[in-house]
Amino acid sequence: MANKPNLNPEAAAKIEETEEGTVLFNVPFPKDLSQLKEMSPILVKQPYQIDYLHSYGQDSPFFAGLANKKLLGTKCPKCGYTYGTPRLHCMMCGAECDWFELPQEARIHTFTVCHFGSQEFLPQCPFILIQVEWDGVDTLFLSRLVGPDPNEATLDWVGRKIRARFLRLSKFKPTDVYFVFAD
Ligand SMILES: [Zn+2]
Repeated sequence: MANKPNLNPEAAAKIEETEEGTVLFNVPFPKDLSQLKEMSPILVKQPYQIDYLHSYGQDSPFFAGLANKKLLGTKCPKCGYTYGTPRLHCMMCGAECDWFELPQEARIHTFTVCHFGSQEFLPQCPFILIQVEWDGVDTLFLSRLVGPDPNEATLDWVGRKIRARFLRLSKFKPTDVYFVFAD
């Protein structure tokens, strides 16, 4: 907001305030300690930064796959349930699943056009989210459809063949993969 030109004439006749203040080396202190509760709060401005270490844990092979232009799903060796969005433990029976490579051609199960999103995705609005479907795979995979005009969305897209594309420089995020029409 601070950098936007302000057309309000009253506000235009004002010098814009910044957050910098005067460095204070001594704070007046009352002799009567009972006055301390009336004291104004001390506000300190200081830089703040954290390095957040996030572990993908057992999902790590999925992201290693994306970095190598491969889509990985999992399959339960006990009950045979297959996951297009990988899970290392079967939701159906709890057994530990095995990794397998998913085909890079798939179909659009359904889609939605997003006209609003979280901060990261706001500049890309409107964009198309799709649920990706594979033959013989029991769960879907949420991804982006890139290429078609979101404002021209049509139900004819349901069932369309799509092909996976990968970011050349992997960011190790689920958005490293997206889909385009295959035909
Ligand atoms: Zn299972």
